[in-house]
Amino acid sequence: MKTYIIGNWKMNFTVGESSLYLHKLLTKLHFYRDIEVIVAPSALALQPLSLQTNRRKIKLAAQNIFYRDYGPYTGEFSVAQVRSLVDYVIVGHSERRHIFHESDKDIKLKVAAALRGGLTPILCIGETESERTFGETADVLKDQLLGGLADVSREELSKVIVAYEPVWAISGHGSSAVASPLDVADVFVLLRKTLKETYGPKLSAEIPLLFGGSVKSLNAESYLSLADCNGLLIGGASLIFSEFNDIIEITKQIKND
Ligand code: PEP
Repeated sequence: MKTYIIGNWKMNFTVGESSLYLHKLLTKLHFYRDIEVIVAPSALALQPLSLQTNRRKIKLAAQNIFYRDYGPYTGEFSVAQVRSLVDYVIVGHSERRHIFHESDKDIKLKVAAALRGGLTPILCIGETESERTFGETADVLKDQLLGGLADVSREELSKVIVAYEPVWAISGHGSSAVASPLDVADVFVLLRKTLKETYGPKLSAEIPLLFGGSVKSLNAESYLSLADCNGLLIGGASLIFSEFNDIIEITKQIKND
């Protein structure tokens, strides 16, 4: 299985800045066969960056989509509108769930819409700080995982990527907490077991599990070394060239491309 290194640029960079940064990535990063490098710029930048990128080196992801194909949905865009620009779409990011109140049902429909349109959904799941404090982590994660996949057929399952992102460990929201690799390892075991019990060993083994939450070059190795870690979803550190570059080099060393 490939290792996925995904930079989520969130609501950062103008279109011009995005283009300059992509240019730097394309010219300065080393690319490795088994490492899939993906960046998720703002929706405004997807069109120009899709013309600029070399998809063999860097693929693009949308940060969100709506699940209808077209119609009276002000401010939204559909898979049909974005599918020629990107290969991936992030679905259910905690900022979408908690700031924009996306429900489990919205997320399930978005995962299914992405697959229907030929895009790979990166389904994000993660418990909040209070859910963790009250010992609800396992239940929340199982609900979000199986809820997000509820409309996915067995044939489509291997096209989904799952990213575990504990909400309390995501940077930029006032907390500097980071997840311990041991805790993340436990969660990966839980997720793989849940997938195995639901879909069987063969299908469950085909779903990449990623970690995200304050990943930097300094701690990337500790997560990438976990047995079940198939990659990283990186927010803040992906905005800094040297950080993103170092994380890719660390990935190369650990996964021994
Ligand atoms: C994210 O929001 O997906 C994320 C992981 O952010 P950060 O790396 O900044 O914590």
